[in-house]
Amino acid sequence: MNLRLLVGVAGVALVLLLLPRAELARPLEEYHVAMGTIVRVAIFADEAEAPALFAVARDEIDHLSAGLSHYGTDGELARVNREAQSGWVDISADLADVLGLSLAIARRTGGAFDPSLGALTRLWGFPDATQPPTPAAIDSALAQCGYRHVRIEGRRVRFTSQGIRLDLGAGAKGYVVDRTVSRLQAAGVMAGVVEAGGDLRYWGSKPDGRPWHFGVQHPRLPGVIVAAEDVGLAALATSGDYEQTFEFAGQKYHHLLDPQTGLPAQRAVSATVWARSAMEADALATAAFVAGPQQALEWAAAADSMEVLLYYESDGVLRYALSEGLQGRIDAVPDSPAHNP
Ligand code: ADP
Ligand code: MG
Repeated sequence: MNLRLLVGVAGVALVLLLLPRAELARPLEEYHVAMGTIVRVAIFADEAEAPALFAVARDEIDHLSAGLSHYGTDGELARVNREAQSGWVDISADLADVLGLSLAIARRTGGAFDPSLGALTRLWGFPDATQPPTPAAIDSALAQCGYRHVRIEGRRVRFTSQGIRLDLGAGAKGYVVDRTVSRLQAAGVMAGVVEAGGDLRYWGSKPDGRPWHFGVQHPRLPGVIVAAEDVGLAALATSGDYEQTFEFAGQKYHHLLDPQTGLPAQRAVSATVWARSAMEADALATAAFVAGPQQALEWAAAADSMEVLLYYESDGVLRYALSEGLQGRIDAVPDSPAHNP
């Protein structure tokens, strides 16, 4: 009864579905615009306490997202990008934390997720990009990338190569989600969900005792949500080739870049990762998307806290791959053959 496919669900891409039966307790919700997306805070709490709790969440989201953005010139990350090639730069505990986690995932994924791609992502210019850069420009941007050139020691950072720029975008949303959840837990909220643009984390048990259910946007069927049972991991995130795109000379381009080629990664159509934290899920979803099904399934098999659902095309057919912990727990999609890559 738990596997279901909901067709025609409107709303933000990659929506979380709590799938409440109409008559059951619903969480109190607030939506907040940050990090170029909509952050949804849903809590099971006393109605009277909700405004103060939402304020706690909002403060945390605004405070963190301002510091972690690579856009603009004001934030802490912008300052690091300007100064860390000339020597050690002191950074906040938050930035040290998210950068440390990012570099660990870069190492774990052999650089498929790489937080040092700022020169390349700036060159492409998503979300406003309208045409691809020249191969020469891509090559010179790639020469200014590489997580191995980022050194972190406690609360200071330096770059050991010229032109390095951090872009934490592929994990930062997840990090903000995790921290917001921590703040709400510390404030005494027993259960809830925080979601930012398809990255989500939940905690606690729903008051009605029913299990959590989550939905994943089908990458090729707008409005089709693939539902999954709880797999015992509190966070999930999706990266898809349909989120930030443009077309040029009859070809489609998207914002998830392969650090080996400097071009949009081709091995997947979308990747959803379940993990213990939203930051991990977010960064690993980007990495899985870039590296493709074979690698992603290997990572999941080797980890005790990672599951992956990956859609990809082969011979013009949309297929999907599932890690072991998802078998039988997800109704992956109509018309897509499963496949062992
Ligand atoms: P979305 O939520 O839009 O799917 P992701 O979490 O997957 O986004 O992150 C995409 C962003 O991460 C891009 O806009 C870019 O700034 C950056 N990025 C692109 N490719 C990579 C990569 N291979 N590793 C790390 N960051 C990347
Ligand atoms: Mg990501």
